[in-house]
Amino acid sequence: MSEQTMRGMRLGSQSLENEVNVNLAKRSKHSFICGDNHTTEIVFAAEADLPETWQCRQCSQLAAIVTDGKHIELEVLNNRPGRSHYEMLLERRSTEELEEILKERIAYIKGRRALGKAEL
Ligand SMILES: [Zn+2]
Repeated sequence: MSEQTMRGMRLGSQSLENEVNVNLAKRSKHSFICGDNHTTEIVFAAEADLPETWQCRQCSQLAAIVTDGKHIELEVLNNRPGRSHYEMLLERRSTEELEEILKERIAYIKGRRALGKAEL
């Protein structure tokens, strides 16, 4: 008699534990916005440490997390160590300037080619 009662108790407490686990596994959705304003939504466990950045799903740029409707300025992100040479170059020159330099360079190489001096 007493053994049966204990078994019943054990089963009851087990199912209570499962409910607690379900509550702990709460998830929350967070949005990340990239420089081109694409939104990437990622679901995290509620207690997880949130990353400040995520890779944009549409264009693979760095996207900043949106907190309280705001997100970190991507310029701030770009000034962090680890940015590529191309990113640093774009901070000093606009794409138009770079295209202009490229045209000059191509003209220079073509000129050298015409003289038979080009190595490229
Ligand atoms: Zn994007």
